[in-house]
Amino acid sequence: MNDSHDSLSARQTAVERHQPRLYHDLTTPHETLAIREEVRSFADEHVRPAAWAIGHREESVENFPRELFKKMADAGLFRIPFPAEVGGRGLKHPATATAVLIEELAYYSNSVAAIVDVHCILAGHALEHASPELQKCYLEPLLAGERIGSFATTEPEASTDLDVKVMQTHAVCGDAGFVINGRKRFITNAPVANFVVLLCTDEGRMTEVVVDLDAPGVRVGPPDRKLGNQGQLTADIYFDNVRVPVSNVVGVRGAGLKIALQTLTYGRIGIAASGVGMAQATFDHCVDRLNNRKAFGKKLAQFQHWQFKLAERATEIENARNLYLKAALRMDAGDAFPEPEAAMAKWYATQLAGEFARDGVQIFGGYGFMRELAADDSHYRVEEIYRDCKISEIYEGTNEIQKLVIARAIFGKEVTG
Ligand SMILES: Cc1cc2nc3c(=O)[nH]c(=O)nc-3n(C[C@H](O)[C@H](O)[C@H](O)COP(=O)(O)OP(=O)(O)OC[C@H]3O[C@@H](n4cnc5c(N)ncnc54)[C@H](O)[C@@H]3O)c2cc1C
Repeated sequence: MNDSHDSLSARQTAVERHQPRLYHDLTTPHETLAIREEVRSFADEHVRPAAWAIGHREESVENFPRELFKKMADAGLFRIPFPAEVGGRGLKHPATATAVLIEELAYYSNSVAAIVDVHCILAGHALEHASPELQKCYLEPLLAGERIGSFATTEPEASTDLDVKVMQTHAVCGDAGFVINGRKRFITNAPVANFVVLLCTDEGRMTEVVVDLDAPGVRVGPPDRKLGNQGQLTADIYFDNVRVPVSNVVGVRGAGLKIALQTLTYGRIGIAASGVGMAQATFDHCVDRLNNRKAFGKKLAQFQHWQFKLAERATEIENARNLYLKAALRMDAGDAFPEPEAAMAKWYATQLAGEFARDGVQIFGGYGFMRELAADDSHYRVEEIYRDCKISEIYEGTNEIQKLVIARAIFGKEVTG
């Protein structure tokens, strides 16, 4: 389907970007700066025109932004996170570049950022632990955009708590391989994905396996209807006596939880970057509005109340971007669990995105509350960000869990539990 909306008015308005003027990027590698420039120009050309429709259409398989997904694949964006041996760009700082990719996509569409986060960081990164044969079959087509990936840990009764005793998706190993039964919930990309990297119990431990979503016994439910991120499709996946060869194990049997947690740590850097992307977009749209809307014969920007509010937000965006870049650089330096920075970055950036979205709607007044103004079809980005940002405080480790991770770094696990 065509992702773009017929009406020009339904596109995102272009406003001045303030990041290049206010954020002096002295510490990010040149390689990453080049990626930011490349992705930004791609996003300006391809994401911006499609973003409004992606963020406002009802969730359905038909409304998945396939055309944009293909353009991202053709532009090689899915190759950014990966080493050259599997067809990736072979960057020196792949995690940092990937986080920047997510920020630049979220600037226009948090749905698109989430689709890419799950496809590349969750499904793709988990497959970096897989055998060369599995990588050839699943990772290489993922990089090319020929197969869409999903990643499943959450179940109806287990998510924040991934204890093996709570999980209800079981893999039982026999002579002919695994037989899997169970159910996963809220799985991003599931309605359109070709495979899932699945966390399941396996003889009292946990194992990650790759399962084709068209395998006999697998059923994907209809897309969930959500508060925001409409372009990001989620659904339940049901497993009913699904047969999977042992060769589909990612890493080794019993190491599934470690792989999942490492993958989610990388993911939370991506979600932090998406929070920065949304906060930066809110900032740019708000500065534009404050400079152009008048009350009491003055520009809104002339009221000190809003000057101070934007001064605070500019400082917080600076901090949030520095934090996710630092966490990503630590990951690129070889630390698979760059804590506490990854947890700090995720909590701080997503809370900022949420609080600033609330200010953003306030700055736009009644216009900020409109999905579309009937009189002239106008609409404002802050409305969409207000709906989209909430989930970033919840998925890939809730913000309470991020604080627990930070508290553990302070007090130790023996105190925090
Ligand atoms: C749009 C969307 C996309 C998603 N995509 C995926 C996906 O692709 N793959 C996947 O596996 N999952 C996915 N999820 C699931 C998501 O990661 C979970 O919703 C999230 O981890 C929270 O789990 P829960 O919803 O079961 O909440 P619960 O675990 O029930 O938590 C409820 C509340 O209790 C709090 N809480 C729990 N434990 C503690 C504690 N010890 N101390 C203080 N507070 C605590 C939590 O922070 C939270 O606020 C997605 C969810 C959504 C909504």
